Amino acid sequence: DPISARRPTRPRGGPAYLPLMGNVIELENASRVYDGTPVLGPLSLAVEQGEALAVTGPSGSGKSTLLNLVAGLDKPTEGTVTVEGGRIDRLGEHALARYRRRRVGMVFQFFNLLDDLTVADNIGLPAQLAGMSKAKVKERTGDLMEALGIQRHARAYPGRLSGGERQRVAIARALINEPALLLADEPTGALDTASGHDVRELLIDLHRGGQTIIVVTHDPALAEAIATRTIHLVDGGIAVDRTVGGRR
Ligand code: ADP
Ligand code: MG
Repeated sequence: DPISARRPTRPRGGPAYLPLMGNVIELENASRVYDGTPVLGPLSLAVEQGEALAVTGPSGSGKSTLLNLVAGLDKPTEGTVTVEGGRIDRLGEHALARYRRRRVGMVFQFFNLLDDLTVADNIGLPAQLAGMSKAKVKERTGDLMEALGIQRHARAYPGRLSGGERQRVAIARALINEPALLLADEPTGALDTASGHDVRELLIDLHRGGQTIIVVTHDPALAEAIATRTIHLVDGGIAVDRTVGGRR
């Protein structure tokens, strides 16, 4: 399977994370204030490589804000955000764009695909923008479509696909540049039960293959299924931080 083949292997049933590989994300006293209103933190959080972290909490508790800080889509009002040893809160526009394109893959509730590009072109676009050769883009796009079971839709436009298929396309696009982090904000929120289940299983497979994942969800069942660790936010603070080690 081309997804797991490029990931470090670990024994089946072994620990769900690789402690020796260190923290891939570190937030130190990070906070976000909008118009004078604190919506997140200050909070500190370390995420290890290979973790599958679920972020739960009621609507408005700061889940998306936290994810956006890690994605480099937003900056902390105070505190620091470090990813793979580098301070992303200090990056200038150009370096931040590069970080977002190459180190982070992001998946959203409503897919955010480009409707006038084919499935294959949607998936390949971030690689093309990152300067990957045409041949390599084609090869990786093909591998990902095959691994995610969407190859037969390669030349279709997203508007023709079901929600579950669109989310698979979005996940393939998020993975094309082999990101250190896969970040998903309510990835099953707009899906029916069956498609939601499929996407959930796909995320679990990716995590088994070694992918570090953060998934934001208000669905405790989704968190329970995917995560090796759950943080529960209330009013922008971490109310619960629970590790469910060694399940996978
Ligand atoms: P969640 O994802 O848990 O539902 P969010 O992180 O989206 O919560 O939002 C947390 C709080 O911050 C909410 O009260 C929201 O209205 C506010 N908020 C989020 N983004 C902005 C913004 N760009 N400007 C002003 N307020 C915002
Ligand atoms: Mg949200």
